[in-house]
Amino acid sequence: MPLFKPEHRQLLKMLHPAREEEVSDVLSGLAAFMEEKISPLSPKFDSLAEKITSARKSLLENGICLIPYPSRYGGLELPFSAYTLPGIISGKKLASFSLTEPASGSDAKAVRTKARRVGMEYVLNGTKMFITNAGEADLYFVLGATEKGPSSFIVEKSAPGLEFGEDLPKLGMRGSRTSELRLTDCRISAENLVGREGEGFEQVKTMLNSSRIVMGALCVGVAQVAYEKAVTYSKERRAFGGLISDFQLIREKIADMVTGISAARLLCLYASRLKEMGLEFSSEASQAKVFATETSVRVCDQAIQIFGGLGYTSEDVHRHWRDARLLTIGEGTSEVLRMLIASRELARSL
Ligand SMILES: Cc1cc2nc3c(=O)[nH]c(=O)nc-3n(C[C@H](O)[C@H](O)[C@H](O)COP(=O)(O)OP(=O)(O)OC[C@H]3O[C@@H](n4cnc5c(N)ncnc54)[C@H](O)[C@@H]3O)c2cc1C
Repeated sequence: MPLFKPEHRQLLKMLHPAREEEVSDVLSGLAAFMEEKISPLSPKFDSLAEKITSARKSLLENGICLIPYPSRYGGLELPFSAYTLPGIISGKKLASFSLTEPASGSDAKAVRTKARRVGMEYVLNGTKMFITNAGEADLYFVLGATEKGPSSFIVEKSAPGLEFGEDLPKLGMRGSRTSELRLTDCRISAENLVGREGEGFEQVKTMLNSSRIVMGALCVGVAQVAYEKAVTYSKERRAFGGLISDFQLIREKIADMVTGISAARLLCLYASRLKEMGLEFSSEASQAKVFATETSVRVCDQAIQIFGGLGYTSEDVHRHWRDARLLTIGEGTSEVLRMLIASRELARSL
């Protein structure tokens, strides 16, 4: 199945009438590259728990990860909504986001990592937990508590006192490394403070608002692949003298799956468009993430059902459910995001 489909071109026409051709060219080139180079490797990342490092390097070398960034940074300056079709991360240097700690996940303000200013340096002490790309990334965005409150720092991989734990075994998303990050009297230049002391929590909120749209988009992609596999199988598998795609109960699943995917895609694009237009989008970003991630889990579950016993035993079917499952937890659990959506909506004047 082609990754870049005619309906994507239609969507781009609706969203960016003036730049449709330009955005389509970039996205169809990206889709062709993904189909040829990355998709064939995906099962390998899962079953052998092989890390995605080499594939990520080839993505970066192809310069196709720069979609929403300004041209002064070498970016393509394309609309953010174009970024939520493929949903990939940019950067020559790999960065890692280090917020979660053993005793503070959803409650990020309860950060226990300490950052103390000593002359022209900060000294960091603490432990971060479940950090994606820990040990592989070149740079670590670390939240630590200073006298003025939570503050953000960039810690380079080579910083003295920075260590990483073992790669944790995971249900899904096995291509990425996840481990602990330990800071023991880790000294970094005072210049590596991001902004000012006490601004860390607000910076984290800003980053998460955007990345939640990307997480939603990622889930749309996962659901789409599981859906397409299930539809193809339903048109080949026979039972009771006919194709299973002819049974009404299978058709109901297919209709619900594709409707959920379309709604999730549009919600992600809507949140992206609000962001592009400089409008408030935090509630919509959370709505997009909650809806797209939960839809993806449901769609992948239904795909397993359509495959029957094969769905439960074939890694290439159930890995989509296992991958999607993380995203109702990471970058804001569904419960916490529902709290954010409700408080935002209650504060809006009706
Ligand atoms: C594979 C993987 C990769 C990750 N990568 C990163 C990363 O790169 N960087 C990073 O910083 N973190 C990362 N995380 C951590 C992830 O963001 C946290 O696991 C997540 O934020 C939840 O925190 P927690 O695990 O401490 O759960 P908790 O906060 O302890 O929550 C436990 C349960 O309680 C619920 N809960 C909590 N508070 C409330 C409330 N007020 N009302 C109702 N329910 C509530 C939660 O929704 C959840 O169901 C990763 C996690 C995993 C599994």
